[in-house]
Amino acid sequence: MSEPVIYLDNNATSRVADEVVEAMRPYLTDRYGNASSMHRFGGAMRRVIDQARQSAARLLGCEPDEIVFTSGGTESDNAAIRGIVKLAPEKRHIITTRVEHPAVRTTCRQLQREGYRLTELAVDRQGRLDLEELRQVLGDDTVLVSVMTANNETGVIFPIAQIAELVRSRGAILHTDAVQAAGKVPLNLSQMPVDLASVSGHKFHAPKGVGILYVRRGTALAPLLVGGHQELGKRAGTENVAGIAALGAACKLALDHLPDQQRRVKPLRDRLEAGLLRDCLDARVNGDREHRVPNTTNISFEYVEGEAILLLLDRLGICASSGSACTSGSLEPSHVLRAMGVPFTAVHGSIRFSLSRYTTDREVDTVIREMPAVIRRLREISMFHPERDATAAAPTERTIRLGPRSS
Ligand code: PLP
Repeated sequence: MSEPVIYLDNNATSRVADEVVEAMRPYLTDRYGNASSMHRFGGAMRRVIDQARQSAARLLGCEPDEIVFTSGGTESDNAAIRGIVKLAPEKRHIITTRVEHPAVRTTCRQLQREGYRLTELAVDRQGRLDLEELRQVLGDDTVLVSVMTANNETGVIFPIAQIAELVRSRGAILHTDAVQAAGKVPLNLSQMPVDLASVSGHKFHAPKGVGILYVRRGTALAPLLVGGHQELGKRAGTENVAGIAALGAACKLALDHLPDQQRRVKPLRDRLEAGLLRDCLDARVNGDREHRVPNTTNISFEYVEGEAILLLLDRLGICASSGSACTSGSLEPSHVLRAMGVPFTAVHGSIRFSLSRYTTDREVDTVIREMPAVIRRLREISMFHPERDATAAAPTERTIRLGPRSS
């Protein structure tokens, strides 16, 4: 694609860094050995994987032998949850939250259908968990707690260190989906009793299809994929050497650039947010603004459809998202915003802007400049603009779903 694009959808996926492309190139061309082979062509691949494992461990603050390379966040989530419950069949209770990514949510709900008791912890209007609720529901038969580090839609960060202490004190295992946290905030997994963590390369400038499952030393895990003995017996399958080399390079870059997230990305995000709240009527931020990853803002523009906003933005070359990219395509309102108690009118007009270290001041200026006209235009054609039609019936779930979109 040659036309200039303002890409503010980095929580969906991110641009592959030039350095990362260079790091993986040899393994897509002349260095194509199998890391399990005995000959030197294979042995060299083993060393590439080992180096990447060290870079990954440095980013996550753990030991290299605690890193298992996978095909991405979804596999890591599935492998962590299923791999733990399988080894403790006598324990039948799982705890998660109402705002997890579908990779966790669906896996837990499948297990519920298979006979497990499932507790999905509530969040408040700011998207925050009540640790007292967690304390109360943790029981002797709780095998696993799966709580994300940062939410993909709002960026809200959960207090994982505190949660980990609580879970450990009750003898359960903690898995955290750290897909939206890695590379954005410091992670120091060895400093807190987290047992498993999921990471996905394409969220921080590695290619799609490669990720990490962190497994704390001594945590027994039944492998999801069985076959060969790769990845210390925790994940069978010929290693994706090019992807792993790329992920290693992305981990190193992410660690080098971590201070930029606070120094540069966060002020840009804050400026974008402040500009949109100032210039667009009836706009408000969803989620706890204090405990958030630095690159994300989720803003509701009331009385307009998120999809309509996205279409108009797209015509201007601006890429954002309404809710999670993984759930768009369905007209179901975001389960995250619903769990937070955001009203329908606001859920439907919610837009997520997610920045990266490649986002520029000029790009943010352009979005601040263009957005008010987009919102005004859509409100003019909206069936439920409150200022134009004070007597209009209050919008309901049904009228919003069937309203402006189908007319
Ligand atoms: N977990 C979270 C929080 C995510 O945001 C995503 C992707 O959007 C995933 C898991 C899935 O990761 P992957 O796309 O690598 O399968």
